[in-house]
Amino acid sequence: MSTYGIDLGTTYSCIARLDSNGNPEVIRNNEDDSNTVASVVFFENENNVVVGQAAKENIETDGDRVVQFVKREIGKPDTRTYEFDGKTYTPVEISALILTRLKNLVESQGGEITDVVITVPAYFGLEERSATKQAGELAGFNVLSLINEPTAAALSYCARQFQEDRTILVYDLGGGTFDVTVVKMSMTQNDSGKDVQKINVLATGGDDRLGGKDWDDKLFEHILHACCDETGLTPEEVEAETRQDIRSKVEEAKRKLSKKQSAKVRIDVNGSRIEIVITRADFEKMTSDKVAQTMNFVESTLQKVPDAVIDTVLLVGGSTYMPMIKNAVEAKFPGKVQQHDPDQAVAKGAAIYASMLVVEEGTNSGTPSDKKIDGEISGGVEHAEQLTAKFTVEDQTPRSFGPGVMDTKANKPRYVLENFIKIGEKMPAVFTKTYYPLENNQERVRLRAFENMSTEDTLIPCVDEDGNPQATDPAHNVKLLGELIVNLPPDTSRDTPIEVTFKVDASGVHVEAVNTKTKEVFETFLRTGSDIDVEKSAVHQLRISAD
Ligand code: ADP
Ligand code: MG
Repeated sequence: MSTYGIDLGTTYSCIARLDSNGNPEVIRNNEDDSNTVASVVFFENENNVVVGQAAKENIETDGDRVVQFVKREIGKPDTRTYEFDGKTYTPVEISALILTRLKNLVESQGGEITDVVITVPAYFGLEERSATKQAGELAGFNVLSLINEPTAAALSYCARQFQEDRTILVYDLGGGTFDVTVVKMSMTQNDSGKDVQKINVLATGGDDRLGGKDWDDKLFEHILHACCDETGLTPEEVEAETRQDIRSKVEEAKRKLSKKQSAKVRIDVNGSRIEIVITRADFEKMTSDKVAQTMNFVESTLQKVPDAVIDTVLLVGGSTYMPMIKNAVEAKFPGKVQQHDPDQAVAKGAAIYASMLVVEEGTNSGTPSDKKIDGEISGGVEHAEQLTAKFTVEDQTPRSFGPGVMDTKANKPRYVLENFIKIGEKMPAVFTKTYYPLENNQERVRLRAFENMSTEDTLIPCVDEDGNPQATDPAHNVKLLGELIVNLPPDTSRDTPIEVTFKVDASGVHVEAVNTKTKEVFETFLRTGSDIDVEKSAVHQLRISAD
């Protein structure tokens, strides 16, 4: 049985495996005549749910029964839900429907599929990651592991062109998101003294609201106005069917403009047929601000790693097919730009990684469901073995984590966040520190746990008096994960050491506290969003140092 790599994208998803020669190949979506599947779900009626291009064709006419961009919602604290025909769907369930469509794609072509690696953006926190994994399991997969999208892209690039130490900037412009990542590939020795290539994420940046859709929207507006000019209608007078017609043709026209200098679009405007010609030059003019926006993000991401010297720039994401993108990136990084199947590179890298995991058999976090390797792809596995000799993908913590505690030694007692585990640390990461109750006879501690993007040891102040994470520096992105309740027996003195441990691995954050006097262990962590009313006051807290 093959292992598969899945790029579960915001707008398009893609699935790949290694072929009999060990080369990654994408499973074609014959129904839509494409290498990808639109991540769009249309709830036509209670008996029919459609995923893919056919679902996309209902956005303008039946928009309230269409779900798209669900990746933006997955694992978010205030989980929104969707209701259709009396059934409620969570983002995890919607994502599982998209994954099921990919599964059916493989099965309809005679393939068998259980073990998969799913890709996630490098900036995804652990909640988003575990929700993605959950979606995979709901679709019936054994999720061997998750891998960062830029890492997968780099893996797919290096599999075709192996090079030693390199710093790669991955420019990923998809349909709804723009991600810039600086990854470093370096030679290192593994535990058994073997030379291995390590891929580390050095910096991430971008915008989760910037992508090909913005280019579509500009073109949509342009065509709509051209239709209005021809007919004398106002945009409001244009019927929903006409809008859908434009919407359906916009993306096709955009793709045409990637290949040709002009594209012709025919639209039935409220009954009369209109023909509009758009030139590539016009299209580039109306979207030049968007290109500039992406280049600003490239700049600000580079500023996070001032010492990095970029050797290669990888263009990833379907939107990089647009010549204007390649031109802009080339202008900044002359001679360094590489582009290979940008809409498939992530899935292919995930397929390579999935095969590496099967070869390693359990040395990584996942356990392949079927360790016997099918002869059909043995070539692939041998190839993967060669790859394994070269690569190890080090999992790193995607955020910093730590508890909120009282600093009583400051002039005025203040609430601070102590970062136990910092962003970029090797996973699994563990850190323990001893704290003390705030007062004698304190009944309990409600220990708040946070994630953030800072690399500081301490963030002051990290929350406001209501216990809400405070945006002292929005870049720190402080987020309350939940709290751990530590009940203290009567007569507990304020000198009782309470040992707090944070452990972060690919499956999430584990918080534990031990009352070292009673040896009692507390580990029931209540997550925000799951009905908990997080302690708002500073009363039931721990303090940093013994007096
Ligand atoms: P995701 O955003 O889900 O990661 P992709 O990387 O596949 O998805 O990017 C999808 C975007 O790429 C869409 O906006 C799509 O219109 C665009 N795209 C795909 N092919 C082309 C092309 N040939 N020319 C221009 N844009 C394209
Ligand atoms: Mg993508």
